[in-house]
Amino acid sequence: MTTPKSTAGFATRAIHVGNEADPSTGAVAPPIFATSTYAQEELGKTKGYDYSRAGNPTRTRLEQNLASLEGGIAAPVFASGMAAVGALCHLMKAGDHIVASDNLYGGVPRLFNQVMANFGLQFTYVDTTDPRNVERAIRKNTRYVYIETPTNPLMGLTDIAAVSAIAHKRGCEVVVDNTFMSPYFQQPIKFGADIVMHSTTKFLNGHSDGLGGVLVCTTKEQAEQLAFVQKAAGAIMSPFECWLVLRGTKTLAVRMKQHDESGRVMADFLRRHRKVKQVFYPGLKSHPQYELACRQMSGFGAMITIETGSLANAKRLLKRVRLCTMGESLGGVETLISHPASMTHAAIGAAGRKAIGLTDGMVRISVGIEDLGDLIADLEQALG
Ligand SMILES: *Cc1c(COP(=O)(O)O)cnc(C)c1O
Repeated sequence: MTTPKSTAGFATRAIHVGNEADPSTGAVAPPIFATSTYAQEELGKTKGYDYSRAGNPTRTRLEQNLASLEGGIAAPVFASGMAAVGALCHLMKAGDHIVASDNLYGGVPRLFNQVMANFGLQFTYVDTTDPRNVERAIRKNTRYVYIETPTNPLMGLTDIAAVSAIAHKRGCEVVVDNTFMSPYFQQPIKFGADIVMHSTTKFLNGHSDGLGGVLVCTTKEQAEQLAFVQKAAGAIMSPFECWLVLRGTKTLAVRMKQHDESGRVMADFLRRHRKVKQVFYPGLKSHPQYELACRQMSGFGAMITIETGSLANAKRLLKRVRLCTMGESLGGVETLISHPASMTHAAIGAAGRKAIGLTDGMVRISVGIEDLGDLIADLEQALG
């Protein structure tokens, strides 16, 4: 079996790139190379691997797979999404500046403000749904513009092409957290992004059974520097976790199709429900950036946030669901339901939540791929 060309379809590449049969045994499933070190034939002579912090064959396979799916040239993987963002920070030096979206996954500003700021990195947060705010915030020392689209949990979108054009004119690189859409529905590199970040913990793994992160690179320089950071700082993904994500991406296309189909129907059901005050979903024509969603995404995905009107209503809904699992995280085959104000966005405080319009009555749903009728029946009884 040969590796498919980069022009092959998404599902073909997802199943085959990095999943070539094992040359020594013919095993169709990639082996998990549970080894720390590698026998050397003589001084200085290896088979390409010398120590698993620097490189591991199972990790190489996953990195090739993810690079292909995002249209990048390399995809160094890390122990978690946050470890990937940490590795990105390791490419900077004291005095460097990042312009970041003011509505990011809560862990990212926590890392930036409470860890990286101590090392002299500087951060400015702006509402990137209007690219002109990015233009105004860029300084001489800005290295990266860091965005997430759609945002968690308000589903605000940032125009990747517009922000990339602005950043490139000023000599900075654009990093896009593409976790919510996965490369199946959104490929930021096509719109000018320089680095694509994922928490592979979510849709790429898809089964809620492992943590990981990736930084998909577009230049040789980024790839070399991040490979060095993997070796030097060591927050790499373990071979077993790599194997889980490789296994996960094989079904990414079919899972995302179902997530999207169910997401659309669920959003429409919630929009019509009298107990639901507002629905945040980029696939609804009422979404203020519906047109941008159609332009830069090929599907709308499974992430839906609803306004129930009060903390008491949100609590009641979360207590009453039976099939939906209440918990952090998203992107698994099972439907997960959460309360952003007290869970994912507790760290930014009440003032921070108010500033981005995140209320105590909001509930976020990651629509899984169970039978849709069962999911709707569960929400119907929980809302009723
Ligand atoms: C979960 C998540 C992260 C952090 O990833 P971990 O794997 O939990 O470290 C970053 N960004 C987004 C959008 C996420 O959902």
